Amino acid sequence: MHSVIASPQEAKYVIVRPGARAGMQIPSTHYREFADAVDAALAVPSWLVEAAQQAWGLNLASERSDRAVLVRPVTTLAFSRATWEINLGCNFNCEHCHLTGGEPLIDPHFSDAYRHAYGMGMLLEILTNGSRLHQHVELLVEMPPHKVTISLYGATADTFESLTRTGETGKGERKVFRWS
Ligand code: SF4
Repeated sequence: MHSVIASPQEAKYVIVRPGARAGMQIPSTHYREFADAVDAALAVPSWLVEAAQQAWGLNLASERSDRAVLVRPVTTLAFSRATWEINLGCNFNCEHCHLTGGEPLIDPHFSDAYRHAYGMGMLLEILTNGSRLHQHVELLVEMPPHKVTISLYGATADTFESLTRTGETGKGERKVFRWS
């Protein structure tokens, strides 16, 4: 699985690392050199080895380009942002909810869809109520999301249960996560 992604970004070229906030802008010559290196299964160019170490503490010194890097092609379409509501169901029943989208982590296809999107080089953000994150830790460590947004419904058990109307079920849904 790729460690970094090289991509055209409107009129620029960037290299990003899934799960990391910092990225780098590169000249078009570097992007093309990179695409050629991936096609020929060459070693990662030395400038990227150095830059990846500085930016992310990532050691690419012994990596082959085609294994470490996913190169998004230049197309007539600009890479941009899209939102997919994978389902409309939810394990909460919040009193304010209008359900424009449900809870993605309860969907039986979430893992497969996530793996597929990650493998295509998408930087993924998950919007979740957080109640099922513990069931996906292995996947999210293997393929780190770019961002996870967790909604919090109450500072106490009473306010949480009052708002989410989960009743007894809610007691099993409240978890404390430690991400490292
Ligand atoms: S967590 Fe609450 S607000 Fe969010 S989708 Fe579920 S019911 Fe609606």
